[in-house]
Amino acid sequence: MNIATNVNLQSFNTLSIPSTASHFVEVRDLDELTAALNWANTQGVMVFVLGGGSNIIAKDQVRGLIIKVSLRGISVIKETEQSCTLSYGAGEVWHEIVERSVSQGLSGLENLAYIPGTVGAAPIQNIGAYGVELADVFVELTALNKNTLEEVTFTKDDCRFGYRDSVFKNELRDQFVILSVTVELQRQADVCISYPALQTYFLEGKGAVINSPEMTHSKDQYSGQDNKWHPAKISSMDVMHAVTAIRKSKLPDPKITPNAGSFFKNPVVDNKLVQELQKAWPDIVIFPVDSGRKKIPAGWLIDRLGWKGREVNGIVIHPDQALVLTNPNSKCAAIILEVADAIIKDVYQHFGIKLEIEPQVFG
Ligand code: FAD
Ligand code: NAP
Repeated sequence: MNIATNVNLQSFNTLSIPSTASHFVEVRDLDELTAALNWANTQGVMVFVLGGGSNIIAKDQVRGLIIKVSLRGISVIKETEQSCTLSYGAGEVWHEIVERSVSQGLSGLENLAYIPGTVGAAPIQNIGAYGVELADVFVELTALNKNTLEEVTFTKDDCRFGYRDSVFKNELRDQFVILSVTVELQRQADVCISYPALQTYFLEGKGAVINSPEMTHSKDQYSGQDNKWHPAKISSMDVMHAVTAIRKSKLPDPKITPNAGSFFKNPVVDNKLVQELQKAWPDIVIFPVDSGRKKIPAGWLIDRLGWKGREVNGIVIHPDQALVLTNPNSKCAAIILEVADAIIKDVYQHFGIKLEIEPQVFG
């Protein structure tokens, strides 16, 4: 085991924050992970678990041991005529497992294509996109208790998945290192293309993305002789390519423009507040959640207050998606959090909604 000291984390986080970690180790198997945790426990050093760094905000000095989880491996757990249950090592790259499963004819992960990061981080916030979330295919995960070093299996119920949320962000925060994640994928399944961007891609054939060279479906899949849409003909492969093309066209590439994706969670608020807001802001965008609550896109709230495209202290609120804060000048966490705080205060003042930051703060 090689524990490095005073490591610059700039290349380990997609916000490109030039933070320094007092201790850093990359682990490739369970023995290395156990040794690293033993070392940290003996030294009384705090442990921070790192995957691809696409959802963290690292403070200037991180005093503790950063454990970069690179446990790889894919195994088939069970196969039936209808489905295939697969287990993935926590260090597998998320988009690679999406591509691999879809090209094997399995459905379930296609809407989650092109999300940066690793498998081990996916359950932390129950990653989601385009109407699908990890919980929809999740079976179980294994994790190591950081203190007792006991290996535990968590079922779907144990994980208490919610909207971009799980038990690992709440009661069990910072207590486990996820080792593997098991999902059940279907051999034949209806694709989910309910989001407007996907509808446009398949139905209207408009916009730059429709001419993507990756597009494999033919025009009659969405507009046949009867001039109706034939979703059954749209495959998981088509959806994966559509999602990838839309994301590439809309979202800033962290390698070019550092960012951590959505900086704020979309607020879920009760119907009473929604009714009040609708009176004051008739064009407010809302989506149903359950009988008593609605989701309001945080991007809409931020955009409505004029933040979109603004630069504040070197932090740029992305001109196409106000939910994404970009860090083109590699500013430190304090500056990013200051700008985020100004946005949170403004949104609260005008809408009475307290936005929550999505990425996890390290340090
Ligand atoms: P990291 O950033 O390294 O870590 C994130 C959190 O998970 C930290 O708290 C860390 O301690 C913990 N963690 C990581 N690995 C483990 C492990 N093995 N065991 C225990 N804890 C662990 N998210 C979405 O949900 N949907 C999207 O569509 C989406 N799009 C994005 C687009 C862009 C351009 C970017 C930059 C981010 C996007 N994200 C999205 C956010 C992010 O990619 C996901 O949350 C992803 O799962 C984070 O993976 P990671 O490996 O980079 O985690
Ligand atoms: P979008 O499609 O422009 O939609 C804007 C917002 O409206 C999203 O936040 C989405 O909520 C919501 N929405 C749109 N259509 C909806 C529907 N039919 N039903 C319910 N909610 C709907 O968003 P985008 O920025 O281009 O992102 C596309 C997808 O990728 C979204 O699902 C988004 O969550 C995901 N994404 C996530 C991150 C991240 O870091 N977490 C970063 C980039 C993209 P939801 O967010 O709940 O889907």
